[in-house]
Parts: sequence; structure tokens; C-alpha cells
Amino acid sequence: MQKQCKCGDSMSLHLRTVIFSNKVEIENVPIYSCDSCSSSEVIPEVKPELTGLIGGLGTNPSKQQLYFNEYNELAHLMCAVSQKDQVHIPVQKILEDRINQLLDLLLLANSLNDEAWIADVQNRLKQVTRHATYDLKTLGP
Ligand SMILES: [Zn+2]
Repeated sequence: MQKQCKCGDSMSLHLRTVIFSNKVEIENVPIYSCDSCSSSEVIPEVKPELTGLIGGLGTNPSKQQLYFNEYNELAHLMCAVSQKDQVHIPVQKILEDRINQLLDLLLLANSLNDEAWIADVQNRLKQVTRHATYDLKTLGP
């Protein structure tokens, strides 16, 4: 998961805190950053969810801390694979476990006829499968 910076050097992937309006701290946002020129950018794959999250805060948000990994499955998976007690577990296994967990949730949501919950779980499953081919082990510290 590497990307070329406009300065010509390669950018690496990290989980970083994004601060919005000087008030809202959004933790664990996957960001490409360049060590040579210190430019950085949110990875395109999570931009729709991050934009949606920020859009939902309104124009005058209160001081708060959010965890992007609770809203976005790619960020969730990156957190999972970068956790020290999980580094020995293959990424494929972490992905499969998450998919099984989400399928269980989907069954539960279906049995409760909770439309909003069903839609949320389906969206998460889509995010996981969309990113299932990523080499998450390239995540930097
Ligand atoms: Zn650069």
C-alpha cells in the first residue's frame, strides 16, 4: 500500500489523528505521509466515509473525540492488524474473523427487522470485501 509523493519519494501509510475545526479529534484515520517533504493526504478509499462523518458534525461542532475505526472498516482492520497482541495473526485470518462477525450481526439485525442496522452492517461488509485484497501488513508505525 505505497504511493508516490509529488516530490518523487514514496509515501507510507499510517494511522493518524485528524483535527477538524480545532475541536474535533478524529483518531485512527489512514493517511499517506511522506518522510522527505512531510506532505500527507487521507487515503482515497476512506474519503467518502471521512467526509460523511465530518459532514454529520454540522457547522459548529462541540469539542469531542471520535474514533474513525468505529465508522470505517478499513481503519478498523488497520487498527486490528497493528495491535501488538495480534501481530502474530495472519491478516487473512483477521479479515475472515471480521467478516464472520459482521455476518453474525447481519443475521441478528435481520431477525430484529432493524432496517437501519441491516443497512449499516451491509455497508461495513461492502467496505471489508472491497479492501480484502489489500496488503495491510505494509502499515507503518
Ligand atoms: Zn514528498
